[in-house]
Formats: sequence, structure tokens, C-alpha cells
Amino acid sequence: MVKCSKCGTEVASPLKTWSMVGRPSKTGERFKLTLGLFKCPICEKRFRVVLGKERVTIKGIIKEIKGIEKGLMQTSRSLREKIEKLESEKADLLEEIDKLRKVGEEKASALEEEVATLRKEVESLRKLLGDLE
Ligand SMILES: [Zn+2]
Repeated sequence: MVKCSKCGTEVASPLKTWSMVGRPSKTGERFKLTLGLFKCPICEKRFRVVLGKERVTIKGIIKEIKGIEKGLMQTSRSLREKIEKLESEKADLLEEIDKLRKVGEEKASALEEEVATLRKEVESLRKLLGDLE
């Protein structure tokens, strides 16, 4: 909980937070600051507050890099899984399309036969009617 720098109202949560590494101190130490942007619900003043201060050490940097690496590995793993899933879905769809095309072709050739039979019938009817005239 932080207090509004203008009217003292307590503000529960920041609009956003971010972190930055400050300049090295005289002793060569660097600090990573976590900052928060707050907005007072009463007077609407926006103000920044340092929420955290952490000494930057090689150990900390390595830990952070490892965390980033882990995140990247997870991302690439989940991407690979997604791609594999999509590829198998695509294969299924292609198979289905192939089946449907076969069914369609069979239906078309059955219709062609039917049409040919009907044509013959029409012809023989015409002949019959011609003979009657
Ligand atoms: Zn205020």
C-alpha cells in the first residue's frame, strides 16, 4: 500500500510496474529498481514509487539469463508441440478430402451412368413415338 504524494490517500495497486538498472554507485554497485506508476483515486495525481531495490550481482544476472533461457525453451517446446498437432490435423484433413473426393467421383460416375441410361430410354421412347406417327 502506498500513499498519494499529494493528498495522502492510500492507493492499493499500481497502474503498471517496470524495472530498471540504475547507474553504478561510487562503490561500483548497481541496483535494479522496481518502480510502480500509481494513480490516486481521489485527486487523480499520478506518481511513481520505488517498490523494490535489488543489488545487481553476477549471480543475479546469471539467474535471470537462466530464467530467460528456460522460458525460451518452454516457448520453443510448446511451439513445436503446436506445429506437430497442426501437422497431424492437416494430414487428417487431407485424408478426409481424399475420401470425399473419391466419394464425389463415385457419385459422379454413377450419375453419368444414370444419365446415359435415361438418354437411351428417351431415345427409345422417341423411336417408339416416331413409329406410332
Ligand atoms: Zn491524491
